[in-house]
Amino acid sequence: MTRRPTFSHRPTHRPTRRLPGPRPGRAPSLFHGLLSLGTALALALVAGLPPSALAEGFGDRFGELRRTLSKPDLYRLLYAVPKGGDLHHHAAGCWRMEDLYAVATDRSIVGTNRFYTRLRAGGCDGDTNDWVRFATLSAVQWGAMDACRRADYTALDALSPAQAREWMDSLRLDRPGEGREEFFERIWPRLGALGRDPHLMAEMTVRTLRRYGAEGVRYIEAQTIPDLFGAPDGTMLDPEEGERILRRRLARPDALATGVTLRLQYVVLRFTPNAVRRVEEAHDWVAGHRDLWVGVNMAGREDNDKGHPRRFLDVYRRMRHRHSGIGLSIHAGEVDEPNAHLRDTLMLGATRLGHGNNVLTDDDLVLHLRHGLAFMEINLVSNLLLEYVGDYSQHHFPEMLRLGVPCGLSTDDSGMWDSGMTDEYFTAVTEFQLTWEELLRCGRDSLKWSFLEEPAKARLMAEYERDVRAFEKRFGGDDWRARLAEVKPVAHGFARRRWGIAF
Ligand SMILES: [Zn+2]
Repeated sequence: MTRRPTFSHRPTHRPTRRLPGPRPGRAPSLFHGLLSLGTALALALVAGLPPSALAEGFGDRFGELRRTLSKPDLYRLLYAVPKGGDLHHHAAGCWRMEDLYAVATDRSIVGTNRFYTRLRAGGCDGDTNDWVRFATLSAVQWGAMDACRRADYTALDALSPAQAREWMDSLRLDRPGEGREEFFERIWPRLGALGRDPHLMAEMTVRTLRRYGAEGVRYIEAQTIPDLFGAPDGTMLDPEEGERILRRRLARPDALATGVTLRLQYVVLRFTPNAVRRVEEAHDWVAGHRDLWVGVNMAGREDNDKGHPRRFLDVYRRMRHRHSGIGLSIHAGEVDEPNAHLRDTLMLGATRLGHGNNVLTDDDLVLHLRHGLAFMEINLVSNLLLEYVGDYSQHHFPEMLRLGVPCGLSTDDSGMWDSGMTDEYFTAVTEFQLTWEELLRCGRDSLKWSFLEEPAKARLMAEYERDVRAFEKRFGGDDWRARLAEVKPVAHGFARRRWGIAF
């Protein structure tokens, strides 16, 4: 699904080109300063603008706002910032749980597929204490159990409002002490049958595009799996039929109106016994569906040794014999200890690295990355909640960004964090004092390093520049307070719990 072309050239909005000067990470010289000033004056005269408008630039205004605005107002400002792409985005992990509950209990969407969720441990034969509250089954799975076990479950649409709230909360990391065990071992399994309903999946995709679009995201490259959908009778659905359901939903007017372009990556669970074969299937699927599918990813706990990158070197090399032009973005370095996963992942052919938390333990790799050979997908909220950093003083993002390594901010699993893209920007700006130039570099690189095909990529990049210029104009004038008051942000539980921000 692509955005309708709305790009119009307006002569009064000249491109805010980066003025000639030092490259990021190098100290500015007096010569560069004079050159920049002279060029700014020349540009300003050409543009017919008062010289001060360009000589001062929006960067100073942004820095002032960053330092002086209250937290809610800064959040408001950042909600309105154009945000480019979300390149690290697990489809189901980014579902908003309120939306999920509404969709899963809406018969006009899921048809005859009713869901059942576990409320209590049973006393049935063979039961153990090893059970997960709110694990959710499809109607067919529930119907296949004996009466004793069925009684442990309640239909999702029969939950009381308080139970429904508990069910939604059970799918997000919202309490102290919940970390990666809760996330990997309970929250994902809880989703259970929900992710296997193609109509639910298609509807949630559109709702996610709408939510991200409202906060200025224009491109999402979601990680998902095309061949896990079930038919209403419990048999596996032909993946091509699942694909048709999704495409039909994405073609409807409300999906197009979100203004967000969607592309998909086929994600392989790296530590599973059949993971090598899945990498092969992923390449073949992407090659056969290139208008929507653009890349292959590998995810799953990296502290499970069975998923180490070297295991996959042979299959990625074989796939390069078979296919051309398939994007590779692979999770790497989402671990606590130093290891060779990042450099081994580059050996697999990845041009984008997911997380990269342990990058600073490998000096040679850092030096290589400074040449711009790979993009790092930064997930600030995720890394904190899953405890890959205790606090942001330990985070590698500012070092990567300010060494000139291409980086972008991404949300990973925003539904499970109870957050959005604005929370990533707010964290980056408040923890690392991001400048306007750095913020824009993240946005631009998030489109430049996407696997989106041309000419769609060039169009989104041009629209990003147009939107940035409009933002600078909107908040660069004397009436910025009035413009800020017009922004209607949406903040979720993460912002409320961490910063006390609620609107
Ligand atoms: Zn991820």
